[in-house]
Amino acid sequence: MSFLKNFRKNENETNDNNPQPASNNDAVLEKLSKIPIPGSHTSIVAAGLVKEATAAGSDVFIRLQFNAETTPHSRMIEAQVRNGMRTLGFENVQLKMDGLPGGTQIPLAQSQPPRPQQPPQQQMEKLVPGVKHIIAVASGKGGVGKSTVSVNLVCALAKLGKKVGILDADVYGPNIPIMFDLEGKRPEVERNKVLPLEKHEIKIMSLGFLAPQEEAIIWRGPLVGRAIEQMLKDVEWGELDFLILDLPPGTGDAQLTISQRLELAGAVLVSTPQPVALSDAVKGLKMFQKVNVPILGMIENMSTFICDQCEKEHDIFGKGGVKKASEREKVAFLGDIPITPELRTGGDEGKPVVLEHPDSIAAQKFMTIAEKIITEVGDEDAPAPQHFKL
Ligand code: ADP
Repeated sequence: MSFLKNFRKNENETNDNNPQPASNNDAVLEKLSKIPIPGSHTSIVAAGLVKEATAAGSDVFIRLQFNAETTPHSRMIEAQVRNGMRTLGFENVQLKMDGLPGGTQIPLAQSQPPRPQQPPQQQMEKLVPGVKHIIAVASGKGGVGKSTVSVNLVCALAKLGKKVGILDADVYGPNIPIMFDLEGKRPEVERNKVLPLEKHEIKIMSLGFLAPQEEAIIWRGPLVGRAIEQMLKDVEWGELDFLILDLPPGTGDAQLTISQRLELAGAVLVSTPQPVALSDAVKGLKMFQKVNVPILGMIENMSTFICDQCEKEHDIFGKGGVKKASEREKVAFLGDIPITPELRTGGDEGKPVVLEHPDSIAAQKFMTIAEKIITEVGDEDAPAPQHFKL
């Protein structure tokens, strides 16, 4: 393959001029070979998108060639490449994107991300090596339904045949135990590892299992980041296709630390449609973009209310706000979830709608969102869907 020749050549040149461990270039190639073209099983390397890749010290230069088929995925691919290089510890990622419509090339200077604060060339430790994709579910503020979305999303992924887990990282209000009807349960410890609880074939871990709900813990930003890291490391997650990370609300230090420290497959932003909630969600989106975490898309929760008396759709918070924002920010819109009594009672009683009311509009919306996420991260080899008993 011509790219490989090029790549090896660059590797040798780099070695001549500037002593450079060959493993750097190998690691770059390996990482790029794992990035799929969204919606296909082909990697960007196998599809011939990667025309050049050179690692030198803490810098890496990559040239991608887009065509009509791959152009619609350019942003997602760009984010995944940047994120991948960041996780290898490169400080400076120079990305040249050729072949975009109108001859658009992202100028190198503009495409350089802010330097992440981590030691150069030190490969980011994989905290949970058995997990294929970690998806962060985030929101600008609390109460918009982030945990409700996380729970139903993980159930939808499980229904689609994926091996899944959920980490309730919302240390300020760990509600996942209630939402799975596991309140008061305690995880066991085996050989220095915490065994996650399991329900509906979903591995579940929450700080709520370790500290009583009423005992408010005062967490400061950096501590939150460390606590989440610890929970990821110390829990025996085993082999998973997806781990959903229900982040604390907001876009402060904790969220930033975790996005920089973790190899995230992407982030999903949940917001209600009102401008006040949305402006915070967009701040969150920009935070992830700043540290090169791919944005899988935005979800509008509490979009409308469908009255079970008159069956009319009542637009309470201004339906469509999140879709408009996602268009403005050029990120995917994953779907809208209505306000429904089942979602609220399902949360309180630990019966997720996706499992309890699979034919409801909300459940079907979550299934579609899960399918979109599977496609976006390129993990479509699903075994036959499973059937659940509650
Ligand atoms: P967050 O995680 O953003 O703080 P939660 O998921 O805990 O928000 O949701 C807050 C409250 O709103 C919960 O009582 C939940 O059951 C309810 N809720 C969330 N989304 C919906 C919805 N679409 N319809 C009805 N109730 C909802």
